[in-house]
Amino acid sequence: MPHPQALSAVVERGLCTGCGLCQSMAGGEAIDMAVTSFGQMRPQFKRPLDRALEARILEACPGATIEGPETQEVPAHPVYGVMLSHERAWAADEAVRFRAAAGGVMTALGVHLLRSGEVEAILHVRAVPERPFHADAQISRTPEEVIAGAQSRYGPAAPLVHVMRLLDEGARFAVLAKPCDISAIRNLGKRDPRVARQIPYLVTIFCGGIANDSTATKIAAFHGVEREDVKLFRWRGNGWPGPTHIEARDGRVFDLSYEQTYFDKSKPWTYNLPFRCKICPDAVGEAADIAVPDGWMIEEGTRIFREAAGVNLAVVRTTAGARLMADAVKAGALVTAPCSLAELSIMHADHVRRKLGHPARALALWLAGQAHPRTRHFRPWQAMRANGWRHNWATFRGTLRRVRAGANREPLR
Ligand SMILES: Cc1cc2nc3c(=O)[nH]c(=O)nc-3n(C[C@H](O)[C@H](O)[C@H](O)COP(=O)(O)OP(=O)(O)OC[C@H]3O[C@@H](n4cnc5c(N)ncnc54)[C@H](O)[C@@H]3O)c2cc1C
Repeated sequence: MPHPQALSAVVERGLCTGCGLCQSMAGGEAIDMAVTSFGQMRPQFKRPLDRALEARILEACPGATIEGPETQEVPAHPVYGVMLSHERAWAADEAVRFRAAAGGVMTALGVHLLRSGEVEAILHVRAVPERPFHADAQISRTPEEVIAGAQSRYGPAAPLVHVMRLLDEGARFAVLAKPCDISAIRNLGKRDPRVARQIPYLVTIFCGGIANDSTATKIAAFHGVEREDVKLFRWRGNGWPGPTHIEARDGRVFDLSYEQTYFDKSKPWTYNLPFRCKICPDAVGEAADIAVPDGWMIEEGTRIFREAAGVNLAVVRTTAGARLMADAVKAGALVTAPCSLAELSIMHADHVRRKLGHPARALALWLAGQAHPRTRHFRPWQAMRANGWRHNWATFRGTLRRVRAGANREPLR
């Protein structure tokens, strides 16, 4: 089976990222993003789509197509992509730095862009008080609104449901979102010239994937709290990395450290990822202007997660990104400090196999006759060489085993 030819196939073959651009393009009366029985945000098809419209959506869909940058100003690193610069960075505003997922760079950039008048709005997500496990797309027009959306939401969200509305309004806006969301916007920009005119900056993260809803439910259950009794669920933030914090409706409060939540194998949950995240060829956000992962502390040659004042890395990928970083530092919105490539590589070693294994995964899907996204500009030959035959073989077999077991199947509802 080649690349998906229908939006329903994107979902059923486990390729949907849940970005919500399809709802934005088709309209809410045709597609509605909702959390399915699988525990992820997926399009719900309310009526058959016009074929031409569905084809246009598929061209933009990051489950069907995902591409790296076409032109490069400097040679790309095999794992981390094009880097015009990489440095530690954090928000100069200590309240933002504390509240944010890491150093608050994404939020500080959003606030700076609004204050400088470079954009009218920031498109990102924010926690939903009435659905504490999920996040909603948010159009922020004030610094306060951007700050309210700080912190990482590792659960379902559909960040792009308002993109077409903002383009139609003629608004100039920036997007703070995951690498797959940024790819969707770049794909859209190949067909819609308004993207280049109206969206001057795309800022992203390094991404470990979106946890299935069951992960949060199990964490709550571990504390003896039923899902419907959770009032607030915060994956991290309010410190760096900050605790996974749960508040129950009856007033009970629970915290787990970052290591307890993500690395303690004795805990009764795993960070349960959908298939699309497992085969992602671009978890480091190569298509963005700036990627802003954690700037983890390093001790004795290994990264550590001890609580501290938050620090990001700012990986600048384009001249627009370089300009934005320079302006934000000059305006006093960001503070920066050097970070070597060796340090970056220690902080984000978990992305090496994920990145270099993407051709082996695609090959396994192709040979198994399974739909897979069309990928370009991710240096597949270089990746295969750098991965080595042993890792390629293990990745290939692992993917084959998973698809044979049906791991790439998802229900539509
Ligand atoms: C699903 C997920 C996986 C991640 N995996 C990694 C990883 O493997 N390695 C790593 O170094 N960092 C990872 N991060 C990024 C890290 O948690 C921080 O978000 C990032 O370093 C930015 O920090 P910050 O302090 O600048 O963010 P903040 O200033 O707190 O801003 C975060 C911004 O991201 C937006 N956002 C939050 N969640 C989502 C979402 N689900 N979809 C779209 N936009 C969202 C918010 O609206 C906000 O604007 C991940 C984040 C997410 C959401």
